[in-house]
Amino acid sequence: MLQAPFPELDDLLEMMGEAGRHLAEIEASEGAAGNISVCLRWPIELRTRFPLVDEFQLPLAVPELAGATFLVSGSGRRLREIIVEPTANIACILVQEDGRTGKIYTSHQRRFEHVTSEFNSHLAVHYDQVLSSGTNFHAVIHAQPPHLTYLSHVPRYQEEPYLNTHLLRWQPETIVNLPEGIGFIPFCIPGSPELMAGTVASLRQHRIVIWAKHGVMARSDVSVKRAADRVEYAETAAKYEYLNLCAGEIGEGLSVDEIRAICSTFNVQQNIF
Ligand SMILES: [Zn+2]
Repeated sequence: MLQAPFPELDDLLEMMGEAGRHLAEIEASEGAAGNISVCLRWPIELRTRFPLVDEFQLPLAVPELAGATFLVSGSGRRLREIIVEPTANIACILVQEDGRTGKIYTSHQRRFEHVTSEFNSHLAVHYDQVLSSGTNFHAVIHAQPPHLTYLSHVPRYQEEPYLNTHLLRWQPETIVNLPEGIGFIPFCIPGSPELMAGTVASLRQHRIVIWAKHGVMARSDVSVKRAADRVEYAETAAKYEYLNLCAGEIGEGLSVDEIRAICSTFNVQQNIF
């Protein structure tokens, strides 16, 4: 939830750009992989930057979000290029009164035909989170960090208790930033209704979820960069785990007692350890 004064359109585009660039820096968005969206529920002027207006059919009805605006990355666009020319890579969707249709605002520089093919999952997560928390701001990122994605191919990491007790043991910050741990959903076809439903359910309990054999989705009701940080914290944990596997599992990791002491010192509620 954000307090007034609310960020302007240009501020939001810049934050999406910085998050996109950082995801590329940590190698979590090769080629045109990954996508970003934000939901804002205060009125915002779109036409000066995005003068072209068209009808848009929402992938699901979101009646309570009438009047909300989504800023969404375009299909096939590179996250690292958003910062260079945001209007070429982002569309704005204003939800109409019926909650089933939108107006899509784009610019003359637009370099995509459609918004990201994962927009159904983005919209469903925004909707679920806004309904449950009442937030006026929500950011969602899909990225493909290699160590997390690699571990999702290894059967024993496909169980959430095993995944979390092994990944959250390498640095004190991990449990502090991801106290609910990392969610996991089995492989689903990209853009499918199964992926959308699984993601919504998992992100009710977690701040980030692994899409098996594909990547992750992370959320934040504070900022786009906070959602990107969550990708980075989880990916760093997976990188340590991967290093440990390569080194013949000689690392100890933080002990359960050490992690519990960290949690009691920093007042972290968790039930993983
Ligand atoms: Zn993907």
